[in-house]
Amino acid sequence: STLTERVTATLRDIPDFPATGVVFKDITPVLADGQLFADVLGDMAQRWRGQVDVVTGIEARGFVFGAALALELGTGFVPIRKAGKLPGPTVALSYDLEYGSATIEVHDDSFHPGQRVLVVDDVLATGGTAEAACRLVEQLGATVVAFETLVELAFLHGRDRLTGRDVRTLVVVD
Ligand code: 5GP
Repeated sequence: STLTERVTATLRDIPDFPATGVVFKDITPVLADGQLFADVLGDMAQRWRGQVDVVTGIEARGFVFGAALALELGTGFVPIRKAGKLPGPTVALSYDLEYGSATIEVHDDSFHPGQRVLVVDDVLATGGTAEAACRLVEQLGATVVAFETLVELAFLHGRDRLTGRDVRTLVVVD
């Protein structure tokens, strides 16, 4: 079977999480399967080898894929976090959610002009988080090479918020 089929078969649906009516895609079984996790990272890495200077991941599951991918690619890793978590001076960006808003931050010396940055997360849903992360990178003058994710929930049309960007995903859920 293909890698996409293996990941699809391993993802777990959790109904009514984090709210009633939402079916959450639980990616933790993919992490728990050592061979599958390694194969996923190998697939992500071969796409970007030699093309990125730094990998950035979005709290919290983006840390898992992003840090592993940075090691595979031989680059550094930069954490993008929820507001108030990073100890040093930060730049922040707020974005709209279905109800309310969220803020993410990065240390203000994390990226610099000319750097090629790969943005990583586990799931692309409405695209708000990914769009905000890409804008944070660009706010510090660096270039976003692509947004790489394990799963895309296509029915939420996250790609519409990432127009003009290279978006790569292993599994598309319709
Ligand atoms: P968005 O901003 O695209 O609506 O939501 C994406 C963010 O929320 C990502 O950081 C992702 O980790 C998380 N997220 C949203 N829905 C899911 C889901 O069904 N499964 C997982 N694992 N994460 C989700």
